[in-house]
Amino acid sequence: MSSKSFKDYKLSEDILRALESLGYEQPTDVQSEVIPIALERKDLTVKSQTGSGKTAAFGIPICEMVDWEENKPQALILTPTRELADQVKDDIKNIGRFKRIKATAVYGKQPFAKQKEELNQKCHVVVGTPGRVWDHIQRGTLDLERVEYLVIDEADEMLNMGFIEQVGAIIEELPEDRMTLLFSATLPKDVEKLCHQYMNNPLDIEIHTAEKTTAQIEHSLFVVKEASKFSLLKDITVVENPDSCIIFCRTQEQVEKVCKQLMEQDYPCDKIHGGMEQDDRFSVMNEFRRGKFRYLIATDVAARGIDISNITHVINYDLPVEKESYVHRIGRTGRAGKTGKAISFVTPNEDRFLANIESYLGFEITRREAPSKEEVAGAKTAFEVRISAQPVIKKDKSEQLNKGILKLYFNGGKKKKLRAVDFVGTIAKIEGITADDIGIITIQDNVTYVDILNGKGPLVLQVMKNTTIKGKLLKVYEANAQG
Ligand code: AMP
Repeated sequence: MSSKSFKDYKLSEDILRALESLGYEQPTDVQSEVIPIALERKDLTVKSQTGSGKTAAFGIPICEMVDWEENKPQALILTPTRELADQVKDDIKNIGRFKRIKATAVYGKQPFAKQKEELNQKCHVVVGTPGRVWDHIQRGTLDLERVEYLVIDEADEMLNMGFIEQVGAIIEELPEDRMTLLFSATLPKDVEKLCHQYMNNPLDIEIHTAEKTTAQIEHSLFVVKEASKFSLLKDITVVENPDSCIIFCRTQEQVEKVCKQLMEQDYPCDKIHGGMEQDDRFSVMNEFRRGKFRYLIATDVAARGIDISNITHVINYDLPVEKESYVHRIGRTGRAGKTGKAISFVTPNEDRFLANIESYLGFEITRREAPSKEEVAGAKTAFEVRISAQPVIKKDKSEQLNKGILKLYFNGGKKKKLRAVDFVGTIAKIEGITADDIGIITIQDNVTYVDILNGKGPLVLQVMKNTTIKGKLLKVYEANAQG
């Protein structure tokens, strides 16, 4: 953390208030480097890990700089995975909550028509994976004419996933007069090439987290035959008794197998891999984030960018083939100043991969002996107490922010020729309500959602039951989901 305060930057009240509600007291290192420069619209390449607060590092200046009045997208944020796109969209919405910033996420395996409709409405920030963003560009459903801010998040992962050329093609479609921010944990050659080709003398910022990484994370490994891995996993989990743990496997099949075996042993666990439906992936991540179960078995899909605090242990059930994956995987623990353990299983013929990882890390990982029978037996009771205990459900970080916000549902929209001004005009006339109490308004064909801020939702709900909008009396209810 730096000793600066968010008040040192030229940020408007709406943004400062949201940061306060989110509990962000001071800028993190990457934020204090990036925010002032981005506010001057300068191009930047930033080498930093996830967990450093980098989403807000670009989210804050973007929310500050977008012009609320403009209806067409002004910022485009590209991310390698759908989960990350959704998470970044939520972060932007949270930061921009009081400025009423509208953010939309677009990614594959989700209905195109729904995204098209969202993009057709007022939308300040679009977050998406390159494939789907490209589809929208091709079909003319994403208007890029007003895009002034581009963020390429996790650029090295875009490269690993084969998206980098598509990223280049997307950039070619954007207005040249724009700010470009590129974030990457590492800067491989192809990513640097992208920077040179499409950025305007970018300033390079490197946030040194390597030291911190090793200080906060205890790395160790066990040499084990493939056939003995599961029995070692059981012993290690008993002895370590993690509060919350990700177990990484190399393939989807292995994830399925390990998850099934652990379920049979009554571990509170679930799985995530690329072969699952997107909705299932989201719901598993959400439940894990909230602490509903302790063990998540995952392929590398879950390794990048996903922000889950308090993971105490990462176990590499299979050693990653790519050295960078090791760093990304273990980056799931030891976040935000907490300590964590990274434990790897290495089979006798994986020497080469291990040597690669160690030279990349710059230190040797401590070799450990499998726990003895006595050690396992001694730890068993405490372990069983924990895995059978009711989980403590963690608070969602936007809960505090959403506290004073009530989303109202009205049964009328575009087809009744209603526009946002009609809602604002009517609601702001209620005694005790001003336009500042009205948040994001989403108008669809037959329904409209209006966020009422500052705890004034119940009052507006009550009054609007008997008040017409443009001469029409609409049904109004509290909407179920906070979006
Ligand atoms: P990221 O690197 O963007 O994945 O962020 C890591 C975590 O840090 C997220 O949970 C953020 O909500 C949180 N965070 C970001 N900025 C701050 C800040 N200035 N103070 C406290 N937490 C923060």
